[in-house]
Order: sequence, then C-alpha cells, then structure tokens
Amino acid sequence: LVQARNVHKSFESLEVLKGIDLDVAPGEVVVILGPSGSGKSTFLRCINHLESINRGSIEVDGEQIGYRLNKGRLVRLSNHAIALQRRKIGMVFQQFNLYPHMTALQNVIEAPIGIHGESRRQATENAMALLDRVGLSAKADNYPRQLSGGQQQRVAIARALAIKPKLMLFDEPTSALDPELVGEVLATMRDLAKQGLTMIVVTHEIGFAREAADRVVFMDGGKVVEQGKPEDVIGNPQHPRTRSFLSRFI
Ligand code: ATP
Ligand code: MG
Repeated sequence: LVQARNVHKSFESLEVLKGIDLDVAPGEVVVILGPSGSGKSTFLRCINHLESINRGSIEVDGEQIGYRLNKGRLVRLSNHAIALQRRKIGMVFQQFNLYPHMTALQNVIEAPIGIHGESRRQATENAMALLDRVGLSAKADNYPRQLSGGQQQRVAIARALAIKPKLMLFDEPTSALDPELVGEVLATMRDLAKQGLTMIVVTHEIGFAREAADRVVFMDGGKVVEQGKPEDVIGNPQHPRTRSFLSRFI
C-alpha cells in the first residue's frame, strides 16, 4: 500500500531524511522507533505531503504522492489533486487538535460533510458507529473541554477514521497524555490493528510495538538503521544504535 523509495528531505542546509526506503503492505502495522530528531515526524508528514520531498518517491495505493512524472521530471501536483490524495490518509498527532467549539460528534462529521459531501444523516450514522468503536458513544455531545485527554485523543482517532482512509498515520499519539490515560488510547489502536487497518505508528511505547506491530522500523539520523519483526528488532537488536536506544527502556 505504501512504497517509499530513497526519500530525501532537507530543511535548508539540514538534511533530515537521507534516503528512506519503506514498504507497507495492506493491513500491515508498522511501528517506527527512533531517537528525538531522527526524522520520524518529518517522514510521516512527507507521506501525506504536509512536507515536500527533495528526492525519491512515495507511493500510496498506487499513486505517487504530491508529484507526477512528466518526461522524466517530477512535477508538483495541484493543491486540489493533493487534497484528493490526502483523503486516503488519516493522521493523528500528539496534540489532538479537536475543534474546541464543536462537540465530539460534530468534530467527527465535519470532514465527511464539508469535504466529502456526505449527507448529515449518513455522516452522523457513520460517526456514531466510529465513536462506538473508540468507546465513546456516550460522549458524543460533549465538548472537548468536557473530555479527558485520552477521550479527546480517541475522538481525534474517530475523526481521522471518518474519511475512511486506506492508511492511518499516528505520530506519538500518546505522548501528550497523562500516564494513566495512555492505555485506553493504545487499546483503541490495538483494536484497529486487529481489524486490519493499515497503520504507520511513531511511538515510544515499546510494549505496543512488541504486541501490535507486524514490523518495527528503527530510524536514526534520517535513515532506517534496522527493521524486522518486533521480537527480532526489540528482542534481539543487531545494530549498536538500536541497542543503545532500546537500553533506555529497560
Ligand atoms: P521527536 O522524537 O523529537 O518527535 P523526530 O524523529 O520526529 O523527533 P523530526 O521532527 O522529524 O524528528 O525532526 C528531524 C529534524 O528536522 C530535527 O533536527 C528538526 O529540528 C528538523 N526539522 C523538523 N521540521 C523542521 C522545519 N519545518 N524546519 C526546519 N527544521 C525542521
Ligand atoms: Mg516527532
């Protein structure tokens, strides 16, 4: 579903991604681990073209993201074409960024109605099913300030799912939560993983990586240093940098 090839990204003179290759199969759950500044967020943002790339290519669902090839040269797509591509990709951030003046339900139906042109009735029906899926159907009419951080993040997950994405990107979805609220969000994500959603998850939750990931990718210095099954990469890391990173969690 995702094919990233030799992805390079620089911010002015700072080279942040130095040739990332990553394939993600449909239904696969890939967890990206790596130290701060290794380029994990930048890579996720490149996948849905929140950042442009300098070299290489990223395909999602058979389409090159952000660019098309014209006579051997990459030409940037129009904003409209990029917006269409983004509809296949849901993203959940560390900061949940719900609209504060909208209830949980209104947050979830906003994109389906506003962007996808669904009827309010249809969007509401889907949204209630999604809120149920994240365990929050009883909180549909609550405003974000009336929800805990964990509940807000689960609404944000429901909102991302409402556009029926083929791929979900999670960037440290539990890092801003109080420790006692982390579990409920991870449980929701584990359910989604079991239901066959294709997910790329950046997290420092090693336990989640161990249990829910089909594959763990360790990034450092803008490169994929090591990847494989969680029991190999976490249980028996081969690369010294992976070892030293993981030793902090033991
Ligand atoms: P963390 O675990 O702290 O979230 P990360 O692996 O997600 O780290 P990135 O956020 O991708 O790291 O950042 C990688 C590098 O790129 C950092 O040195 C950062 O300062 C730099 N960077 C990220 N975004 C920008 C930007 N918009 N402009 C300039 N530099 C940036
Ligand atoms: Mg980050």
